[in-house]
Amino acid sequence: MIRILTYKEHPRGKEIWDRYLYLAAFILPFPTAEVLGTDTLEVDGKTITAENLCQESGKRPRNRTKKYMNLLKDNKVVGGLAPSQTLWEQDYLLAAKLIWSANKALYAYLYQVNDVNVEPMGPPPIQRKNLRDLLTAKMDALPTELKRIGEVVGEDCELLLRNVFRYESFSDNKHAVKMLEAMDVNVCPYCNRLYTMTLDGNSGKSRPQFDHYKSKSKYPYFAVSLMNLVPSCGLCNQSKHDGDEEVLYPYSDEMGLDVLFHTKPTTGLNYLTGSVGALDEFSVALDIVNGNLPESLKDKIQNSDKVFNLTELYNKHKDYILYLYWKNYVFTDEYLEELYEEFPEVFQSFEDTKSMVYLMDISQKQWGRWSLGKLTHDIDQEIKETMK
Ligand SMILES: [Zn+2]
Repeated sequence: MIRILTYKEHPRGKEIWDRYLYLAAFILPFPTAEVLGTDTLEVDGKTITAENLCQESGKRPRNRTKKYMNLLKDNKVVGGLAPSQTLWEQDYLLAAKLIWSANKALYAYLYQVNDVNVEPMGPPPIQRKNLRDLLTAKMDALPTELKRIGEVVGEDCELLLRNVFRYESFSDNKHAVKMLEAMDVNVCPYCNRLYTMTLDGNSGKSRPQFDHYKSKSKYPYFAVSLMNLVPSCGLCNQSKHDGDEEVLYPYSDEMGLDVLFHTKPTTGLNYLTGSVGALDEFSVALDIVNGNLPESLKDKIQNSDKVFNLTELYNKHKDYILYLYWKNYVFTDEYLEELYEEFPEVFQSFEDTKSMVYLMDISQKQWGRWSLGKLTHDIDQEIKETMK
């Protein structure tokens, strides 16, 4: 519903990028030089490069738990006739083998290999640029090769999520929480109803969830990809789950002024004055008002409405709409104009005076700052039209 900024557009983009890459290099079973390349990161006052990441972050080869040892043995990374490898190489080789058996296209995309049908016996060299694209490309602008990889489901998916693209380790890490804090997404971009602030960057006590725009149970290889992680409220994250409907992608799409909330009278018009008891006189609708939108976008809008139950949920906010009508009935534009003229030292502009009525700035770029920001804007527009 509401567009959020990508790291490239964000005022704190460098911080988001640095923390993200640091965390990705820390979590993923690929050599740090392949994830970081020549990037130099600034994280908590430390300068991090591929050369010093392990030392500075404390990155170690994975713990040899019983379960992990069994996986190494089952995949003939250790024991049997396999050549002995260092612990690091074992981790890299296991990752390659799991990817190889899960999806050959993914394997060919990530590694430099001559024959994708031959099982790797040692850690194959990485296609660095491809790995970077996988981690940072926008989900609506994926390179063709990446699009062709397709779904990985069932046990293969589980294995990749647990051992290669380890979302749980990623999301539990304090740098993920700090990254969320830097992203500064106040209100869920899918519904614009629930606040999603990060309370404590260290403990992550209250924080938004990351919705995976492309579900991690079908596309485990995007589980820790930056542009696949959408800070969102728990309700929307849950509603979306693994559904196949393509919803609006908050890093690119928005409803903006093309799709508006409005009221539809059902039994009366007293609600237009905010009259108490007029709650049942109207319903709330969300309609596409720009007929020139591309069909694909219209589909996404309708899917978002359906998947996140937007129309239904916004009909639960009728009392708020009634209150908006009441406020406008009491605080007319003429009255606000007077206030503005009388207290120029208090109000910067007429719009500023108006913000006082709603207790929020309803300009489009502020919608994402406030719960129900868009609804408030749209109903304000409707009131203007109605009162003409
Ligand atoms: Zn939401």
